[in-house]
Amino acid sequence: MSHQRWDFTGLLHRGGYRVTPQRLMILDAVCEGGGHTTAEEIYHRVQTKSACINRATVYRTLDFLHEQRLVVAADMGGGRLVYEIAGDTPHHHLVCRNCGKIEVLANDVVQGMYAAINQRYEFTVSEDHLVMFGLCKGCRGDGGKLDA
Ligand SMILES: [Zn+2]
Ligand SMILES: [Zn+2]
Repeated sequence: MSHQRWDFTGLLHRGGYRVTPQRLMILDAVCEGGGHTTAEEIYHRVQTKSACINRATVYRTLDFLHEQRLVVAADMGGGRLVYEIAGDTPHHHLVCRNCGKIEVLANDVVQGMYAAINQRYEFTVSEDHLVMFGLCKGCRGDGGKLDA
């Protein structure tokens, strides 16, 4: 399976964390998702490599990796939590409530909004994986009125 390989060992080392085979295996399994992937999918990928890692370990490790900002998490609606490798540049999403389509929202758009919030509220937003719900182009069908 080919997927982009991040220097997970270096990342963990630089953060001062212990590099354990479990952490590396789980990071790798998140990476193999190639985007958003659920804890359950990650668990199944890990299982094919090492049957001795249980579900609790996967969930606990994902929490840890999320805290360390090596992975980002997002609720895609209905409590469906997905994980993804954080990467170098933050990215965000637009999720259609109607058809479920997920689009990537560029960081510069969001940064513009963050700058406005910062200026007006003297509040620094640290959200690096924002998910916004609405209606996609194909679903709004009425020229984009907001009173959906
Ligand atoms: Zn994402
Ligand atoms: Zn849609």
